[in-house]
Amino acid sequence: MEKFSERVRNMSFSQTFVMSNKARELKAKGVDVISLTLGEPDFDVPDNIKQAAFEAIHQNYSHYSPVPGFLELREAVSNKLKRDNNLNYKPSQICVSNGAKQSIFNVLAAIIDNGDEVILPAPFWVSYEEMVKMMGGKCVVVETSIETEFKITPEQLEQAITPKTKAILYSSPCNPSGSYYTFDELKSIAKVMAKYPQITIISDEIYELINYEGKHTSIAEFPEVYEQTAVINGMSKAYAMTGWRIGYSACPDWLAKACEKIQGQVTSGANTVAQRASIVGLKTNPSEYRFMVDEFKKRRDLVYQLMKEIPGFKVNYPKAAFYFFPDISYYLGKTLNGTRIENSDDFAMFLLENAHVGTVGGLSFGSAECVRFSYAASEKDLVEAMSRIKKLLAAG
Ligand code: PMP
Ligand code: GLU
Repeated sequence: MEKFSERVRNMSFSQTFVMSNKARELKAKGVDVISLTLGEPDFDVPDNIKQAAFEAIHQNYSHYSPVPGFLELREAVSNKLKRDNNLNYKPSQICVSNGAKQSIFNVLAAIIDNGDEVILPAPFWVSYEEMVKMMGGKCVVVETSIETEFKITPEQLEQAITPKTKAILYSSPCNPSGSYYTFDELKSIAKVMAKYPQITIISDEIYELINYEGKHTSIAEFPEVYEQTAVINGMSKAYAMTGWRIGYSACPDWLAKACEKIQGQVTSGANTVAQRASIVGLKTNPSEYRFMVDEFKKRRDLVYQLMKEIPGFKVNYPKAAFYFFPDISYYLGKTLNGTRIENSDDFAMFLLENAHVGTVGGLSFGSAECVRFSYAASEKDLVEAMSRIKKLLAAG
């Protein structure tokens, strides 16, 4: 007998993992699938970080760490935030978690009560919506489009605010759009938010270092909103450490304490070996790891040229992260090879089944018109994937 809670009944599986599993299953059956589903670097963990992990094992870092993470790691995070972002956070304001995913979860759990509203500029990362729902909160989605690089305006933001608004949650650089908010754009958003100090800004900056054009700005750099901002970041993307599960939040004191309280009851903190290794990663000058970003940039340029040639695709030009989010609305309502395409999830399934290319449909990112392609894959696979899709759609 199934005895689900209301909470689980209302939840969806993470679509990023659903589609990567489907691609994996098809591959296991012998189909030559190219999976551009999951957003994770295809590089190995840098050697100095691996070495630090070996040493941590030999030095018997095998017991619980303090709940919010080793002091030395929180100091390294604090120094990183000063070095790269000109942000002042004491180690006591940092909470290290099992990935940035848990950092976001902690912050939401700390502030959201039943019926509270959280503003999500769309497209948003899949887990934001589900986590807000898990807390009993209500998502207030602010629409954007490919024409405005999927970015909201300060006016749109202010219109979405109600007396029930508890937070705004966004990523910059953005998963899935690959856009990022510039200094000036964030300044005008900060100006609006400063009028509402009761609203927490949850600024997910996990793609901070994967930016091909501009200098990353954190909204917490604007003094008028520093006290109401939670900065989220982690080791997964720029350090290719997705499986090591280290993320962190930097918050005002009261919120940092609440994150620690939640974490102390739920996970007791993050893996100690991965924490020790992260200290080395964070102390290293980011330019040492820049070769991965340079490689992503080459692939971005390559995919952009190839994707533009795919019939019916309106292609965005992502300036950061490692995703394309083309608008495929040309195909909505059409029947392709006998498959009716109602929304972008149908389209992603169509691509998987007919071109054997795995992507993630946009519905769970808050967009029925777009499909997400991760280009954290080899050039060979990217060229082959684009060629298969072009051929398939040209024939249809
Ligand atoms: N935020 C965004 C925008 C992401 O794309 C991801 C996926 N890695 C995360 C947070 C979570 O990252 P992790 O839990 O691996 O640190
Ligand atoms: N964040 C990555 C993605 O969006 C990894 C999967 C996940 O955490 O959802 O594909």
